[in-house]
Amino acid sequence: MDFCTTGIVIRETLQGENDKLLTILTPEHGKITAYAKGVKKISSKNAPACQLFVYSDFEFIEKFGRLTVKTATSKDLFYDMRADMTRYSLACYFAEILSHTCMENNDESESLRLFLNCLFALSYKKDIQLAVIKAVFELKLMCICGFMPDFENCIYCNEDAPHERNNIFSFEESGVLCNNCSAKLGKDSIPYSCYVSGDVISCMEYICASSQSKMLMFGISDENLRELSFVCENYLIHKTERTYETLKIYKSIISSLGEK
Ligand SMILES: [Zn+2]
Repeated sequence: MDFCTTGIVIRETLQGENDKLLTILTPEHGKITAYAKGVKKISSKNAPACQLFVYSDFEFIEKFGRLTVKTATSKDLFYDMRADMTRYSLACYFAEILSHTCMENNDESESLRLFLNCLFALSYKKDIQLAVIKAVFELKLMCICGFMPDFENCIYCNEDAPHERNNIFSFEESGVLCNNCSAKLGKDSIPYSCYVSGDVISCMEYICASSQSKMLMFGISDENLRELSFVCENYLIHKTERTYETLKIYKSIISSLGEK
């Protein structure tokens, strides 16, 4: 069946001299694999839209169960993100996660919207710290995937869990322990957990509850941001049960540039 959709290229593999095999994330059809013929030639009118991280209108033809791009017209190239190695490497990390969490023939409109909003911030919102964009992407994506943590009640005694001092956050159980249980049990008796301060838990709660238009709008101290980064990254790694090559590259770029 031939069809049209918007979408963004999240992976590309070169095929022969002039063609590409693309993985495209679309809202209603989920992840799509399609051939893009001749797009490495400078004369190809589809070439600009058939690149990594370009958000485009696509028209596909289906033949023998294989999709081919008929036309592709770019809507946003996220140019400023491309021009910055650190920002580009973070986009690569987001794309690697999405190629793992998103499925074919599945509604992935929320994941796509999250990716586009984060690419928009990477390109056009230079005042937002990269660590904030990264943590928000990781935690918000886990909510979309059905792992929204419970910050209200203690996962151990089920009482209210006020966010005061050091609470234990369990990656395994997707929730917090109250101060009493945290102090009584200690982190070592809870598998896959870490201590998180009350401020950081409140921040995580804000990210989970806010709309995508507000999710990046919060202030945070450097110390709390380090803690938020640790929790969100490890929560995603635990829930998706894998590590990411692109995360190692992002971190090596950050450390070589001496950035936070
Ligand atoms: Zn408790």
